Parts: sequence; structure tokens; C-alpha cells
Amino acid sequence: MTIINILAFLLTYLAMEGVAWLTHKYVMHGFLWSLHESHHKPRHGIFEKNDFFFLFYASIAMVLMYFGWEKLDYRFWMGIGVTAYGFTYFILHDIFIHRRGKWLDKLDSSYFRAMRKAHKVHHKKMGKEDGEEFGLLLFKKEHLHNSGR
Ligand SMILES: [Zn+2]
Ligand SMILES: [Zn+2]
Repeated sequence: MTIINILAFLLTYLAMEGVAWLTHKYVMHGFLWSLHESHHKPRHGIFEKNDFFFLFYASIAMVLMYFGWEKLDYRFWMGIGVTAYGFTYFILHDIFIHRRGKWLDKLDSSYFRAMRKAHKVHHKKMGKEDGEEFGLLLFKKEHLHNSGR
């Protein structure tokens, strides 16, 4: 694995927080609100329409990995970066914050508590407009300062 591949992986992973933030703010709370709306309402059943966005990112990752497959070049590692971020997002956002499983209930540190708090602020708004805290791993510092229970 060359340095370029390591950088491709790391930069893609980090960039995905920005991409996720932008998509959440301008697409999911924009013209695709009809798909994301389900996530701001109580969930019925295992899946929600909002899960479509996972498929969207998974297909981007697969295209990248497909084109980088032969030489396992930077495109392949960018695909791995997108996948790794998607996995992180699923674990932290869906399992830990929204408790689609109970496995992570014991995950406890001021950072994770603050992340959950910040995301709950996002969910305070049931509607499409005037949202806050569209990211996941990055959020306003104030949540760290008062993340006690
Ligand atoms: Zn939202
Ligand atoms: Zn959420």
C-alpha cells in the first residue's frame, strides 16, 4: 500500500463527513426531503425510506472500487473510505444514537455523549426547514461542555 493509497483512504473518509453534512443539509432537507422525512418521524418496522441514502453511498463506493479493482489503486481505496465512513455512520447514527439495536448502549465517553446530544438537537425539528447539526462526527463545541446527564 503506497502513501497515495493511504492518503486516498484517509482523505476520502474525512471528506465524507463534509459530503454527508452537505447532502443532509441541501439534499435530504432539500429536494429529497420526501425520502428523508421518514427519519424525522417515528419509525415503523425495521426499515425507513431514509435508508435509501445508504444504497446511494454504497453504489458510489462500488463504482470506485470497480474502477480501482485491477490495480488496487487510489480509486479502490477511496471506495474503501466511503464504505468505512458509511459503516461508521451506521454504527454511530443508527445503532448508537437511534438504537436500532441495543449493542452499543454502554458506549460512553464525553465525545459520544456530545455527539448524541448534537444529533438530538437536529431531531428536535420535525420539519424540513431551519435544521441544525447536520453532521455526525463533527458538531458544535458547546455540546461537549455540557454533555453530562
Ligand atoms: Zn435530518
Ligand atoms: Zn438521526
